[in-house]
Amino acid sequence: SGARVRRAHNKRLPQYLERGVDVKFSDVAGLGKIRLELEEIVKFFTHGEMYRRRGVKIPGGILLCGPPGVGKTLLAKAVAGEAGVNFFSISASQFVEIYVGVGASRVRALYQEAKENAPSVVFIDELDAVGRERGLIKGSGGQERDATLNQLLVSLDGFEGRGEVITIASTNRPDILDPALVRPGRFDRKIFIPKPGLIGRMEILKVHARKKPMADDVDYMAVASMTDGMVGAELANIIEVAAINMMRDGRTEITTDDLLQAAQIEERGMLDRKERSPATWKQVAINEAAMAVVAVNFPDLRNIEFVTIAPRAGRELGYVRMKMDHVKFKEGMLSRQSLLDHITVQLAPRAADELWYGEGQLSTIWAETADNARSAARSYVLGGLSEKHHGLSNFWAADRINEIDLEALRVMNFCYDGAKEILQQNRKLMDAVVDELVRKKSLTKQEFFNLVKLHGVIKPMPPSI
Ligand code: ADP
Repeated sequence: SGARVRRAHNKRLPQYLERGVDVKFSDVAGLGKIRLELEEIVKFFTHGEMYRRRGVKIPGGILLCGPPGVGKTLLAKAVAGEAGVNFFSISASQFVEIYVGVGASRVRALYQEAKENAPSVVFIDELDAVGRERGLIKGSGGQERDATLNQLLVSLDGFEGRGEVITIASTNRPDILDPALVRPGRFDRKIFIPKPGLIGRMEILKVHARKKPMADDVDYMAVASMTDGMVGAELANIIEVAAINMMRDGRTEITTDDLLQAAQIEERGMLDRKERSPATWKQVAINEAAMAVVAVNFPDLRNIEFVTIAPRAGRELGYVRMKMDHVKFKEGMLSRQSLLDHITVQLAPRAADELWYGEGQLSTIWAETADNARSAARSYVLGGLSEKHHGLSNFWAADRINEIDLEALRVMNFCYDGAKEILQQNRKLMDAVVDELVRKKSLTKQEFFNLVKLHGVIKPMPPSI
């Protein structure tokens, strides 16, 4: 380890020192250009003299901003590890004490230790816990916190520009920090750490796989692509859960399948091992297969990540994960046609129930997706997307509610017929997907699309309603 303590100056044992911090930049993945900024911080330590000689001011504090679990703490440790300096850390929530003076004295002790053992990195986790704008918290708790914050400001100023103690703090709320904290010479450098993208997730998975017995053919991309929205902490956990899965089965290598299952657990909670009758397994499989089979017909919905009927805690049915274009979706930029396609997919379970079990034996297994379809159809009509209502200025008049419902119904019927037609044309594919689902409980993207290639009849819907 690069961390060292100068014991000569050090009578008390430092309380806030983390020993054995041996993190390197190579342990932190998926950062892209952010890494360059952090490498510069390392240089403040290793080439401090050079900066000073040339009159370049070294920042007293660096603020790492970003959601929990993206690796802010890990990065701070890597800075210390790469520079070979001591790492002191405290969570700001520990500063916030009811007893007046406790928080402030902890801050003082922390910096005292860091200085005695310089060069060092001081890491303050959750800075917003203590760094919220002063005066926002009322009562004695607020006073105590103000005293702590004041002490922190004093401590930061004590090292300004000298580069022997550098403070790194993390926060998810840089916007609510007290302005005094972010003034020049204090936390005057902000680095934003976003959630990792596709490639970032793959790199993070690989970093954590380094110390595990992975099978040679593990498909990290497949795992990365179904973990959209997850952060490093969750991805690290997926590797751990996959390892446990391997051990449980008495195997010696972690496979892609272990990882995909672990990813589902991370996303949706533990598998619920309840039993189902063969008939029920099949019914759920038809329900999920129908959505997937209809969805592959539509450009904005065909990006299917996996199809599963494995029961999960708190959820009755299976699950089809479709990766929508989130940006388009959030910004309401889905086209009129995509919205219709979405309604069609949501009605697929209902259509399948009719086709496979007949009108006389309908269940309510499709109730949730039919609800989704209904509300989407109403948005479609209310948004004036329905052709019948283009350019009608008094469309939102109260006496037209009935008409809106009727038009939504018409849209639903149109989409329902579309779903039925696709399912009828794809009976072979449906049977294959249902069989595989019943047998394996989950299909990966690859497995699903292999079946589509083998049996699928993809025919685009007619362009207009
Ligand atoms: P934060 O401080 O942002 O809440 P942490 O640094 O505590 O997140 O991350 C928790 C754990 O998640 C790390 O110890 C590491 O195992 C893993 N992790 C998070 N981000 C990354 C990353 N970018 N690369 C590798 N591992 C990561």
